[in-house]
Amino acid sequence: MNDRTQYEPVIGLEIHAQLRTRTKIFCGCSTAFGAPPNTQVCPVCLGLPGALPVLNRQAVDYAIKAALALGCDIQPQSIFARKNYFYPDLPKGYQISQYERPLALGGGLEITAGGGKRVGLTRIHMEEDAGKSLHEGFPDSDRRTYIDYNRSGVPLIEIVTEPDLRSAAEASEFFARLRDILVWLGVNDGNMEEGSLRCDANVSVRPVGQRAFGTKTEVKNVNSFRYVQKALEYEIDRQIDVLEGGGRVVQETRLWDSASGRTCSMRTKEEAHDYRYFPEPDLPPLVVDAARLDAVRATMPELPEARRRRFVAAYGLPEYDAGVLTQSPALADYFEQVAAGAVNPKAASNWVMGELLRVLNERGTPIEAVPLAPAALAGLIRLVDAGRISSSIAKDVFAKMYESGRSAEAIVAAEGLAQIDDESALLAIVRDVIAKHRDAVAQYRAGKQATFGFLVGQVMKGSGGKANPKLANQLLRRELEA
Ligand SMILES: [Zn+2]
Repeated sequence: MNDRTQYEPVIGLEIHAQLRTRTKIFCGCSTAFGAPPNTQVCPVCLGLPGALPVLNRQAVDYAIKAALALGCDIQPQSIFARKNYFYPDLPKGYQISQYERPLALGGGLEITAGGGKRVGLTRIHMEEDAGKSLHEGFPDSDRRTYIDYNRSGVPLIEIVTEPDLRSAAEASEFFARLRDILVWLGVNDGNMEEGSLRCDANVSVRPVGQRAFGTKTEVKNVNSFRYVQKALEYEIDRQIDVLEGGGRVVQETRLWDSASGRTCSMRTKEEAHDYRYFPEPDLPPLVVDAARLDAVRATMPELPEARRRRFVAAYGLPEYDAGVLTQSPALADYFEQVAAGAVNPKAASNWVMGELLRVLNERGTPIEAVPLAPAALAGLIRLVDAGRISSSIAKDVFAKMYESGRSAEAIVAAEGLAQIDDESALLAIVRDVIAKHRDAVAQYRAGKQATFGFLVGQVMKGSGGKANPKLANQLLRRELEA
């Protein structure tokens, strides 16, 4: 057995994120996913002779938004280039991308793994996506490959990190945080299965203490969120095995195969695309002036990390609650509206994280479509806080509110659910319970404290769940010890 801790992995990520524009980056074709093949195409994205690209303004604004959120320096002028290579899914024979002068440089993102660190970004550039080769699903798929150009020309940003990541766990956390931010900003839908977010990784290992990097491989085709860490762990282990076996890591591109849980060689350096870049003569330089930056900045939401911190500081919520409530801007907004109307922010958090999310999950309803207004939920919480209804009754009221849209007050009044605080009414129930459960009473009096809980339960039951629990406890104990 070799000692794997003597090796240090070095990982850098290249993340392609599809921008959520309605139309493609250089033409008016739809970007909607799942349309029949080759129905969302035109001369521009098919690369027909004479067709000219026109840059999508919204795509640029989204790219700027992502770059600002990641702390990058937006370049006042960036240049589109032609990245030439031959592949059937690339009808023009080149991809329009940015090369020497990308849209944004620098920036970074904090992670907590590895004791907490900042992972630097090298650059963010804009480019168009290629089409998709379909290798299966047709009667003659053993002989032919079909091409779908619907994806050709869909706008992407490529986010390139510095080789700052030192474990699969760090890389996985970084990617998760980056995805959260892009989705939160509304610039990407975070959907890896549909390919709108893709993560390639450059991986190498070196003996601990060595400064020079080892030979790297590029791991591609990680098409599901949960595979990012697995694919990297596999590749790190594989490289260590190669070195420990006295071999040398070959610089190559490797594909992750989720079925076998392995990476396998796709092409070596000798077979790699020999890209030639030229400036794109059909597009002027992309100029981003201060006014445009300000305009995009004005549309920036408070970012998840900042919002989490504010929820802890301003509402006194535990870190855990703040993390759950800031899963999406809509959920965070909902919570804040409930908290504004409720007396107690922690109670508001408990209701939103508890009953509300449970019902939404059960029914597959997104928070954006929740039928219960935040002010109505706040009304229910106020009734509980004021001792007007018990928390178990409140759950029933919640269910009725969710179905009917009626207010908590109205349901409580109409159904006579208000808590019983009247001592003489409760005492009658307590005495009734004592008379009916002589065995339990005798056990309690003989010193078996556990029966007390049973008797309280009987009192609650006898009151239809409406007894003030504190008062019921007091009265029961008093009667039992009399
Ligand atoms: Zn088109």
